[in-house]
Amino acid sequence: MDQIRIKNLRIFAYHGVYEQEKEQGQNFIVNAVLHVDMEKAGRSDDIADAVDYGAVCLFIDEYMRENRFDLLEAVAEHVTKELLFTFPAIRLVEMEIEKPNAPIPLRFDSVSVKITRGWHKAFIALGSNMGNKLKYLERAVANLQEDDCFRNIKVSNYMETAPYGGVEQDDFLNGVLEAETLYSPKELLRRLQKEEKLAERKREVRWGPRTLDLDILFYEDLILAEEELTIPHPDLKNRSFVLEPLAGLAPFFVHPVYRKTVKELLAELSRV
Ligand code: ATP
Ligand code: CA
Ligand code: CA
Repeated sequence: MDQIRIKNLRIFAYHGVYEQEKEQGQNFIVNAVLHVDMEKAGRSDDIADAVDYGAVCLFIDEYMRENRFDLLEAVAEHVTKELLFTFPAIRLVEMEIEKPNAPIPLRFDSVSVKITRGWHKAFIALGSNMGNKLKYLERAVANLQEDDCFRNIKVSNYMETAPYGGVEQDDFLNGVLEAETLYSPKELLRRLQKEEKLAERKREVRWGPRTLDLDILFYEDLILAEEELTIPHPDLKNRSFVLEPLAGLAPFFVHPVYRKTVKELLAELSRV
């Protein structure tokens, strides 16, 4: 992706663990890389189509002067998130903040922290087969819509499906949600589990009845295989109740493991 690079922006501010840092302040140096799609601005030559890097620099300066944190980690985290909220055309930020005069009684040039945060496309399966199913799904969607760490949420049609996995139970209502999120994959899993808890979900039988089930299907083209979290969802290609709504939202999204589009996976499943 196209980039805007800000090099050695000097900011005088009051972040630090020690009293002396909080009272006297010190210099900070910011290096940032902003990932932005610049094609439109390149064609139009109109500032309205561009991310105004002057405004970005002033924003970082003001934010770092007006807020105070103990840790550089916290400065970086907050200033980066605020940038992503304030300048929606920025998709991703690499942010390095240096403290050339950190209170360390040794000779050194500087210490710094560097983080990368951005908007990531994710697809989430929604399911319910207890109580007022539609209400559970709609409430979860509404709550995610309220959360700043999601944007551009789209929801598929919902479909009624017979239960999966051989446990005797009520039919399911299923759907898929697409969003851009600032959460990392693990943070996203925790956020979704919080939502399941809000729906008073009890963890009983695997594939058994539940008020709300939220599974991560894809997170960009990430491949992750850990017990706690497997992405893409391992059973996705066998589930028409996932592939059908998914195909309504993103038929040409490519499964990073099978290298096939959602549409192709759905067609293969319909053939068996
Ligand atoms: P299935 O994952 O086959 O649809 P399930 O949704 O009924 O089954 P749960 O009881 O909801 O299974 O979740 C069991 C565990 O699966 C969770 O605690 C979570 O850590 C783990 N897990 C692994 N990969 C994912 C994923 N992609 N999305 C959500 N949870 C996942
Ligand atoms: Ca599930
Ligand atoms: Ca689940």
